[in-house]
Amino acid sequence: MKKPKSVIPLLGDLLIDRSLSEVDVLAATDNTPDFAILPWVNVVKIGGQSIMDRGRAAVYPLVEEIAANLKTHKMILGTGAGTRARHIYGLAIELGLPTGVLTVLGTAVAWQNAQMLHCLLAKYGIPFVEPEGYPIIPNYIMERGAVVVQGMPPYKLWEENPESGRIPPQRTDTGCFLTAEVFGARKMIYVKDEDGLFDSDPKKNPQAKFIPRIGLNELLSLDLHDLIVERAVLDLMRHTRHVREIQFINGLVPGQLTAALNGEPVGSTIYRDDVARGGSTSS
Ligand code: ADP
Ligand code: MG
Repeated sequence: MKKPKSVIPLLGDLLIDRSLSEVDVLAATDNTPDFAILPWVNVVKIGGQSIMDRGRAAVYPLVEEIAANLKTHKMILGTGAGTRARHIYGLAIELGLPTGVLTVLGTAVAWQNAQMLHCLLAKYGIPFVEPEGYPIIPNYIMERGAVVVQGMPPYKLWEENPESGRIPPQRTDTGCFLTAEVFGARKMIYVKDEDGLFDSDPKKNPQAKFIPRIGLNELLSLDLHDLIVERAVLDLMRHTRHVREIQFINGLVPGQLTAALNGEPVGSTIYRDDVARGGSTSS
């Protein structure tokens, strides 16, 4: 017997029968509620240049603070790359190498930082998980409270060219952000070396104004010359289904990470200002 044709086609039929470039087919995929895979996990990015490159004075106290939080907060600790990556970007650009190759090189540096952070946390049973090992992350976190990962997204040679110049646009801020989004993480916390977001780089302008909390669109409309976060993160944040805000704290100030993990409004927060209370998007 022939199946009667429903007036409203089922999503499965739509996806099989029609083009995946068709606007209304794409819109129809929006109707299922989002499932958060690790809703209790906090993704914490440990800055490359801002923290790791400062060495022992910055890293040891932070490691202690991370260890003190292992029983109360579950964490994916992603590392930045930093100064060594900037050095090799300069060299590779001078050699005429493309963005994809720079991404491979930068990933190796974030990897080095992850390996060092891992060694310092190993005695607490914290593993370093390579990108291929992500499926095992829940198990380690349930057992030990945290894992260390390298922060770069795994695009390597496939990284897109930036709008301007040659530096990979999606680096470790972005890789950690994408990890938070795909797992439906509780928080995305960036640990850097300033108290948060300012209206200009506080290292260059001592008069820079602190911005404790700002909407994404409002921030984009300010069109700031420099930012505490990769611009790619702000672009991606426009389309998140889970991450509604990102927080920036000063990892050189003891207690800030703990406060952020506890849900306190330390540092600066950038939030999705197009999202109504209750979670649905207004556009
Ligand atoms: P990471 O070590 O995580 O890669 P970066 O060094 O890339 O971090 O970014 C953090 C730095 O961004 C801060 O040390 C600060 O000097 C700089 N910065 C630039 N613009 C701003 C701004 N508008 N507000 C705060 N910090 C800024
Ligand atoms: Mg950076």
